[in-house]
Amino acid sequence: MAIHFDLLAIGAGSGGLSVVERAAAHGARCAIVEPDRLGGTCVNRGCVPKKILWYGASLAHSLREAGDYGFSLTTGKFDWQRLKTVRDAYIGDIRGWYGDSLADAGIEKITGSARITSAHTVAVGKQSYSAEHIVIASGSSPFVPEIPGSELGITSDGFFGIDRCPQRVALVGGGYIAVEIACMLRAYGAEVTLILRGSQLLRNFDNMLREVLLEEMLDNGINILSSLQVQRVRETKAGEKSLSCNTGLELGGFDLLLWAMGRTPNTAGLGLDSVGVEVRDDGHILTDDYQNTNVPGIYAIGDVTGRFPLTPVAVAAGRRLADRLFGGMPDRHLQYQNIPTVVFSHPPVGSVGMTEAEARERHGKAVKIYQSRFSPMYAVPLKHGRKSAMKLVTVGTDERIAGCHVIGPGADEMLQGFAVALRMGATKADFDDTVAIHPTSAEELVTMK
Ligand SMILES: Cc1cc2nc3c(=O)[nH]c(=O)nc-3n(C[C@H](O)[C@H](O)[C@H](O)COP(=O)(O)OP(=O)(O)OC[C@H]3O[C@@H](n4cnc5c(N)ncnc54)[C@H](O)[C@@H]3O)c2cc1C
Repeated sequence: MAIHFDLLAIGAGSGGLSVVERAAAHGARCAIVEPDRLGGTCVNRGCVPKKILWYGASLAHSLREAGDYGFSLTTGKFDWQRLKTVRDAYIGDIRGWYGDSLADAGIEKITGSARITSAHTVAVGKQSYSAEHIVIASGSSPFVPEIPGSELGITSDGFFGIDRCPQRVALVGGGYIAVEIACMLRAYGAEVTLILRGSQLLRNFDNMLREVLLEEMLDNGINILSSLQVQRVRETKAGEKSLSCNTGLELGGFDLLLWAMGRTPNTAGLGLDSVGVEVRDDGHILTDDYQNTNVPGIYAIGDVTGRFPLTPVAVAAGRRLADRLFGGMPDRHLQYQNIPTVVFSHPPVGSVGMTEAEARERHGKAVKIYQSRFSPMYAVPLKHGRKSAMKLVTVGTDERIAGCHVIGPGADEMLQGFAVALRMGATKADFDDTVAIHPTSAEELVTMK
């Protein structure tokens, strides 16, 4: 017989955990199904392990720059394994914390892969469960091209398992995951070749950010090859990978090959066809503004929907959905505009709102741009300079801020507050009326002419 719940979530990542926790807080009887570890991509093989490695890479930059500030340091060998052990212990603590909070909230944790069998029933192995509301939060997985030898490469999932810093790395992809890993590995001392299918990094970001990031990555010694497609991978007896490209170019001598060519939604085996849940051409589950799929009683949140695949987006969509279903807030839903995002490159990139190109396409001559490129004060003593750049995209006669884009040291922490300002509809005059914090890089955003 089926065990009944008010809400059952498929996947215990950022989205699934958020929806059950909030629904349980509203008094709903909830269950969550997960075949793997609690926490999903963000905790186990995404944001969290990445950010710890990013801090280490930032420290590597600072150590190199310390001499220019007058310190005489002799740094010993970097112990990758030590950092990995500390990082993995921290991740274990987060998983433990999730387990405890599910238990405290009375949420049933079901281990296994879920298959939807009707609008209100789910099977996990031989057991059947029924629920008033089923939320699909099954996330996404790295895409690996189907070419000979592709299995010789790893993806970001495998990257967090490696136990030493590679020496020569080929990274295929130009999105934020490729860029972040390239910058980190370079900072740790690896020789990095980044291979782009097209001609640009970070395709959906503002032009200015892309240009400055490219300059900085090249300055940091990253080899960037564009308009290349890898067609075949081979491995020597010594384990070195070589890549044959569409132009006839052969690249060799890599001890690590990493595919970072995008992600595909985890929908295989979910039984979507049998219940008629619609997916888009690219396989992502189609949802309306309220996370409803076309089948009443079935919802989708997070990466599986392909809408801003970021942890806080999955969390916000899940919490709002629970508020709507059980919290007496019938109109509660996530608005997908002005979602801030950071690329943890070196230097970091922060972006919220429209790019200049988007704004010009939508608002034509009503767009006015303010921008600034400068060397941050931190770089004054440095032999190898650092760059910062900022751009405000304004629209209309009142110069409403429609986009804010920053690259440079501190961009990652700077952007959150400006995202609040954009959400509140701030204008350029509001920015100008705000007293600057001096001396900072951020003050540039409220003093731009
Ligand atoms: C390398 C990397 C770095 C990232 N860095 C950032 C960052 O800095 N900031 C940020 O905001 N985002 C970042 N992200 C993105 C972020 O991790 C995702 O947006 C977020 O995890 C999405 O949450 P989700 O709940 O939709 O999916 P997930 O967290 O992927 O969870 C989905 C869960 O569903 C489970 N599942 C799949 N199929 C089934 C099934 N049939 N039955 C039951 N369970 C199933 C999976 O095992 C998984 O645990 C990063 C991602 C990667 C890969």
